[in-house]
Amino acid sequence: MSKGTINVSVDNIFPLIKKFLYSDHEIFLRELISNATDATLKMKHLANIGEAEGVEYGNPIIEVKLDKKKKELRIIDQGIGMTKDEVEKYINEIAFSGAEEFIEKYKDKNGKDAGIIGHFGLGFYSAFMVAEKVEIITKSYKDEPAVHWACDGSPEFTIEKADKKERGTEIILHIAEDSTEFLKESRISELLVKYNKFMPIPIKFGTRTETLPKPEDAKEEDKAPTKEVNNIINNPNPAWTKQPTELEDKDYNSFYRELYPMQFEEPLFHIHLNVDYPFNLTGILYFPKMSNDMSIQKDKIQLYQNQVFVTDNVEGIVPEFLTMLRGVIDSPDIPLNVSRSYLQADGAVKKISSYITRKVADKLKSLFNSDREGFEKKWNDIKIVIEYGMLTEDKFFEKAQDFALYPTVDGNYYTLSELKEKIKDVQTDKDGNLVILYASNKEEQHSYIEATKEKGYEVLLLDSPIITHLLQKVEGSEEKVSFVRVDSDHVENLIKKDEEQISKLSDEEKESLKTFLDGIIPKEKFSVQLEALDSNANPFIITEPEFMRRMKDMQKTGGGGMFGMGGFPEMYNLIVNTNHELVSEILKTKTEKKKERLVNQALDLARLSKNLLKGEELTAFIKRSYEMIK
Ligand code: ADP
Repeated sequence: MSKGTINVSVDNIFPLIKKFLYSDHEIFLRELISNATDATLKMKHLANIGEAEGVEYGNPIIEVKLDKKKKELRIIDQGIGMTKDEVEKYINEIAFSGAEEFIEKYKDKNGKDAGIIGHFGLGFYSAFMVAEKVEIITKSYKDEPAVHWACDGSPEFTIEKADKKERGTEIILHIAEDSTEFLKESRISELLVKYNKFMPIPIKFGTRTETLPKPEDAKEEDKAPTKEVNNIINNPNPAWTKQPTELEDKDYNSFYRELYPMQFEEPLFHIHLNVDYPFNLTGILYFPKMSNDMSIQKDKIQLYQNQVFVTDNVEGIVPEFLTMLRGVIDSPDIPLNVSRSYLQADGAVKKISSYITRKVADKLKSLFNSDREGFEKKWNDIKIVIEYGMLTEDKFFEKAQDFALYPTVDGNYYTLSELKEKIKDVQTDKDGNLVILYASNKEEQHSYIEATKEKGYEVLLLDSPIITHLLQKVEGSEEKVSFVRVDSDHVENLIKKDEEQISKLSDEEKESLKTFLDGIIPKEKFSVQLEALDSNANPFIITEPEFMRRMKDMQKTGGGGMFGMGGFPEMYNLIVNTNHELVSEILKTKTEKKKERLVNQALDLARLSKNLLKGEELTAFIKRSYEMIK
């Protein structure tokens, strides 16, 4: 046996390793299995190019073994192994200097900005985050004796000959007192599934019982025969590593279930990503059914590097609006040992992000073109992503003009250019502006929608929480187009035409009506406007100017608020139709009290149709109404 001292400047590196990677101790297993995988793939490569004469590659697996009694965890591979010289070089020098460099680099950060750095592997030495002693027993594919290396966490190690016969490496971790969680089978299973589910070499963890088909002559009551088989925890050939031409829809769907076993709903569609220049990236993204509630999101896009799971926090790599999707991205070109702020400025990452955006837009466009009806059916489930993307990514906004849909309250779907063409004759106002009318709620705005439809106008149904922000953006990009919500003004005023309004009332009558109304209608809530409208239109109509309402909406969903945190005053317009019979009636009524009652009743009806009558006022209204019909 020979002893040696690992040449490091930091006195004892292990307490440091523990301290700096505190929250991410669990990655040790991923690191060791990655090494085992690399060693196996190297063997395969050597065998393929005929470099390893007389060596049988076979069907190698990696085995993870747990011995609770001995407090040991072993990772055993059938890879290239190491000679004594290689252990000294790779483990004592290279691996250690890597660990040391890592500590030096991140010593001052104290775990701050750990995001992606935390996922950056320490390699072999991460074993010391959980083990008080680590042993390596390894036999190289070269004709040299096996080696046994051991180190207890001090910079001293021992190295001696071993009698291992088979090729490969066995890493033995003597789990430390403070890390006994890693002696639990369930914890190891959990980690294997989290990090190694799609690694390219089969990984065995224990065995499982498999039920075999009953033999032909078996009786009804006979139990089916069983067999103990290796419990392989991974799928070494996940869908994203294959070519799209090899896969059918059902393969994509079953891979989706493999990724998210707790997800029972099928995805709406998928996008297969596959580039090798100017960066390497493969993956599959899925559009799930999306609700308007963006806050609950458990199943996220997973980031892999060469089939090793890295993180499910892809912020900074994938444009924000696409983080609502699901699926997998695998790229060796995404730098992981850097902070998120650096990541966002990184040129390669920017290219990746815009590539993904482009692919998503292309896919949406081709779905739209090849199956418009199907696309329309899915629109409500995907619009939130598309609208959010249009709002936040200018490139996507441009591309989305081809497939972004504007549904009407009657269930028709138009692109913006189709819509413009359809309504231009009827909905252009006297100044040549095209006015696009919309509602946000079919029930609440029912009376306004009806009035608008009677005029022959088309009404859109736009109900996403961010729609106001998006409409602002669309207006900014189009010439002479504005969106107006149906309840923002009386129907005659929504699209102003050059039509002379004839009023039944004389100027004096108007004057006296206005004075009377101003006396009883609360000024802080309503601004009264007399208008000569169609005599069939309602006598009292409450509207909320488009501008005011948008400001309120935008403040609710973040940004755009001019009134600071104080909120907006609850202010509405009360439009009084001077051509309506009831208004003439009010004017004619002699008793002050009766007159007041008519006005209050009409006002309440107007409030009721705008969902503004609630609580005490609603109770009073109902009481008054009963009295009036008595
Ligand atoms: P990295 O894997 O990033 O090179 P590590 O610290 O994990 O760094 O490992 C250092 C080196 O030790 C590897 O590059 C490899 O040459 C060798 N090594 C580690 N584990 C194994 C293994 N299971 N089989 C063969 N060689 C290994």
